[in-house]
Amino acid sequence: MSGKNVTEVRLADAEGIAAAARILESGGLVAVPTETVYGLAARADSAEAVARIYAAKGRPDFNPLIVHVAGLAQAERYAEFSPEARALAAAHWPGPLTMVLPRRPDAGLAAAVTAGLPTVALRAPAHPVMQALLEACGFPLAAPSANRSGFISPTCADHVLASLDGRIDMVLDGGATSAGVESTIVAVRADGSVEELRPGPLAVGRLGGGAGIEAPGQLASHYAPGKPVRLNAEWAEPDEFLIGFGAVGGDTTLSANGNLAEAASRLYAALHEAARAPQPRIAVAPVPEEGVGRAINDRLRRAAAPPDA
Ligand code: AMP
Ligand code: MG
Repeated sequence: MSGKNVTEVRLADAEGIAAAARILESGGLVAVPTETVYGLAARADSAEAVARIYAAKGRPDFNPLIVHVAGLAQAERYAEFSPEARALAAAHWPGPLTMVLPRRPDAGLAAAVTAGLPTVALRAPAHPVMQALLEACGFPLAAPSANRSGFISPTCADHVLASLDGRIDMVLDGGATSAGVESTIVAVRADGSVEELRPGPLAVGRLGGGAGIEAPGQLASHYAPGKPVRLNAEWAEPDEFLIGFGAVGGDTTLSANGNLAEAASRLYAALHEAARAPQPRIAVAPVPEEGVGRAINDRLRRAAAPPDA
């Protein structure tokens, strides 16, 4: 916690962003919209500030954080960029791509950010609010999703408050996020090969064979709505809240016309709605395993996994 019991909610205009930058500068916690989900930001070069993220979220300390930067120039202070990594940054930054790269010995990041790994995960987000905030701060921002560890990710300010009200200093309200699922994570190895560690909004395809390192903290149970979840449901049992997709209608739908981008942007809002619904169980319609559908199914499988898995 950062010493306060009141979480201020501010519109993400120029004044709100300036106030957020001051809080971050002094080591506080601010929830910020990005194009994927709301992130819980703290300065990545301060051990105390980063410790507050883990405490506010109840996040296990073996789960490293993504470091957010304004762009490639800033990123090169913290990691070794191979030509392949530079090309990926040029093609996809700013955007929902996180790259895991060898950490520079002089990076100056809090040790907890990388959970003791010799690598660091870096991303330059595209959302104008996060961009303006990074610009105003000048220092890098560690930012996992702005929710209690293991629960549903937030795609609007209300979702953040539902989980972290009183545990963080401020929420910058920039409306609903667009992409809706967390960034695509790739590891870029010294030999230039690229391996997808987590599917996300960016279709980098199936790169590499998956035999290499794992992304730590990719827990089987995550995004949990606190109720049993049944996947690939064509209809609802009487005690189920049904999240539809395409031809499968429901109590709510990810996308009535089967649009995967819309489904991704609505995924967490639908899970929040299902969590609040009176029905004790949740059922979810099948979602095709293609494009961003791979990211949606990855999150749904973990929302459905039993908590002790
Ligand atoms: P989150 O901030 O919750 O979206 O999760 C960030 C994820 O990035 C973590 O769960 C890790 O799986 C991954 N990650 C962060 N840093 C590294 C790293 N140095 N090496 C591999 N994976 C990482
Ligand atoms: Mg998360």
